[in-house]
Amino acid sequence: MVVTGPAGAPLLTMALRVEHDIFVVRQRGREVAAAVGLEHQDQVRIATALSEVARDLLHSAGGAEVAFVLVGDPADGRRHLRVDLLPVRPLPDGRYEPRSGAVARLVDKLSVVPREGDTVVRMSRRVPVTAEVLTPERLAELRAELDRNAPGSALDELAAQNAQLIAALDEVRSQRDELAVLNEELAETNRGVMALYNQLTEELEETNRGVVALYAELDEKSAQLRAASESKSRFLANVSHELRAPVTAIMGLGRLLGDSASDPLTAEQARQVGLIRSSAGDLLTLVNELLDLAKAESGRIEPDWSEVDLRPVFGQLRGTLRALATRPDVELVVEEPPVPSTLRTDEVLLAQVLRNLLHNGLKFTERGQVRLRAERRDDQWSLAVSDTGAGIPPELHERIFEEFYQVPGATRVGGTGLGLPYARRLVTLLGGSLVVSSEPGRGSTFTVTLPVGGA
Ligand code: ADP
Repeated sequence: MVVTGPAGAPLLTMALRVEHDIFVVRQRGREVAAAVGLEHQDQVRIATALSEVARDLLHSAGGAEVAFVLVGDPADGRRHLRVDLLPVRPLPDGRYEPRSGAVARLVDKLSVVPREGDTVVRMSRRVPVTAEVLTPERLAELRAELDRNAPGSALDELAAQNAQLIAALDEVRSQRDELAVLNEELAETNRGVMALYNQLTEELEETNRGVVALYAELDEKSAQLRAASESKSRFLANVSHELRAPVTAIMGLGRLLGDSASDPLTAEQARQVGLIRSSAGDLLTLVNELLDLAKAESGRIEPDWSEVDLRPVFGQLRGTLRALATRPDVELVVEEPPVPSTLRTDEVLLAQVLRNLLHNGLKFTERGQVRLRAERRDDQWSLAVSDTGAGIPPELHERIFEEFYQVPGATRVGGTGLGLPYARRLVTLLGGSLVVSSEPGRGSTFTVTLPVGGA
């Protein structure tokens, strides 16, 4: 319960007239403080403050009437134990200054206030919320109890004061011990933190060293890889170059053998010569493609940049590829590009790429359509070759751009697996990109994206 009303009847009143009364006031002050629920230390504080003020008033005002009251403070809704000391003679200048400055710190409030034409010295201390609930009945009981308690002698009070001093000293010592323990713990924690920090720093350094070593290794490996790639290109270029002459010779000889001017061949011989010629033709295609790729990889292809109109390029593709579109169920559609249909590029390389893609479309489509379509978006051309063929599983979309890779099962239509890697190299050289989107059974779309203004 919170007492919020004005001061009720005093819990205890007493007179301060002679030196001995100072002890009594002190003793009773502590009793009242204990009765209303102040903690032990607060009881000692208020009792000490009271004995100091009592001594001052006895000397400066001939004593005082002392009243202990329990009041509710509307400001904080809490109870306060208030002690009013009404001086016997008016205070000099109506003012009171405790001789010991520390007194004011022992209580929450210490002041001189006017009361019924007089002034009283008033001090108060807040009662803790945890204290016992003080109903009016309980207060009446307290009053009766306090009345009954006879005040002890000065000696008793001195003994009590001593005991309190010892308790206070004890408390100070235990606080000091606690502080020492805390300090020790803090030092320990600090040591732990430092150890952890050192360990982390070490681990970090170790990791760093590892990363540095890894980078060095990576650099070395990249250099090795570059060297290997260069020697591969050189090897391919040399071998294919060397192979071209004999293969061309074989083809020429085959043609001669089959020529009507030569000695006539039996049907079987003619068939075998035909086989030799077609195998040599395949070999020549492979050799040529290898040579192209090797050239592109070694950076020996220099695009011949010029302003190219897509319309004649598309027209030519339409013409040349018609010969390859031999399946009756497959339609080849080369759409007219939108106007203006120009871009800065290498016409021959671009035509080579598109021919390659259209050729693949025709190779891998059994029925439906193979279509070339140009679309301009901002400063980019997108040239899409789409077909309604077998399609490519998504996990192989990047693999088909690797040299010699062919989708398993699709090899029976022939080919070398070099067309797409070569096409991608060329498109990259032209400053663009080549990507595929495809779904098995639904066909594929290969899209070449090129900047209008060239690389
Ligand atoms: P090649 O056509 O000579 O085999 P490419 O590099 O041009 O070599 O193509 C690699 C592989 O990608 C082909 O073997 C084929 O499996 C697959 N592929 C390419 N184009 C298509 C397409 N339009 N439809 C389905 N599969 C394709």
